[in-house]
Amino acid sequence: KGSNGKYTVTLIPGDGIGPEISQSIKDIYTAASVPIEWEEVDVTPILKNGKTAIPDDAIASVRKNTVALKGPLATPIGKGHVSLNLTLRRTFNLFANVRPCVSIQGFKTPYDNVDTVLIRENTEGEYSGIEHEVIDGVVQSIKLITWDASERVARYAFHYAQSSGRKRVTAVHKANIMKMSDGMFLSACRQVAKDFPEISYDEDLLDRVCLQITQNPGPYADRVMVMPNLYGDILSDMCAGLIGGLGLTPSGNIGRDASIFEAVHGSAPDIAGKGLANPTALLLSSLMMLRHMNLNEYADRIEKAALGTIAEGKSITGDLGGKASTREYTNAIVKRLSKA
Ligand code: NAD
Repeated sequence: KGSNGKYTVTLIPGDGIGPEISQSIKDIYTAASVPIEWEEVDVTPILKNGKTAIPDDAIASVRKNTVALKGPLATPIGKGHVSLNLTLRRTFNLFANVRPCVSIQGFKTPYDNVDTVLIRENTEGEYSGIEHEVIDGVVQSIKLITWDASERVARYAFHYAQSSGRKRVTAVHKANIMKMSDGMFLSACRQVAKDFPEISYDEDLLDRVCLQITQNPGPYADRVMVMPNLYGDILSDMCAGLIGGLGLTPSGNIGRDASIFEAVHGSAPDIAGKGLANPTALLLSSLMMLRHMNLNEYADRIEKAALGTIAEGKSITGDLGGKASTREYTNAIVKRLSKA
């Protein structure tokens, strides 16, 4: 917190629709008098020793502020480019990816009672990137599971459940087949569970969860699900589908050295610059950020205004079936804030 009583947060507007939806967040925060000062940084890759890299200023800003809000980054196609998202993940040790999936009131989907949080281990597992050809026609890909990373993500999941008032943590796994790797992931979860006696703990098979939650999400409400990398990648997009798609899904990357909050969708090049983008996913991501910073009352107030605007249905963007521009939708939220 600075001498002016405000917290400085790094803002990475990003590519494509990024600047448009970031502007919308800035306007809404100004209207709600959120005590945040944005430090805007550009992460357009620069050439460093013949390789593309994120500018040092951007890294320094996130390191200093430890909290960042990030718009989508277009991944350049072609060789020699390291994914910026991957660089950020490695640089700041972003070990847990958090994806709340909660039905949006007023936006019709097959279910209106989805209310779960997925926490995915973000640094190892099936995505360790250790692959090699044993002999011609035989390839091995190594799924790496460590006790430390499992324990760390499990602890974060219980901590998240505790601080968000959720009563149960479920570890999602395939330990019936991956006996040693997922088996150790479960052992770590069981051990951490002992430190949180007020939170119930159970385990469920990934395939069973997929079947059950798409048939009836009700029993999965009020809990946090924690799992290894690949399972979380797939299950979280499946759950995003249950609440109406990526345009409404926020996420947070929690790290040892910083935490970065971002929408799940990409830079939407097809509608970039047209003023049509839906800023809701980035806005909801920013509200996760406010809660992470213990600024809950601001988050609650903005959330109410945004969900109220969507439920009313008069000023919603095209992807939600409305006719409003990004600006009109933003103004409708700002108007509700001034009335509340
Ligand atoms: P995308 O999410 O950008 O777009 C998919 C479809 O959804 C498009 O039709 C788009 O118009 C629509 N859409 C997405 N967000 C929207 C919003 N907020 N409002 C209204 N409509 C929205 O996915 P893509 O086209 O596969 O990827 C485009 C670029 O984004 C690629 O370069 C990709 O690498 C990058 N990407 C970045 C991230 C990230 O930074 N975290 C995530 C995914 C994709």
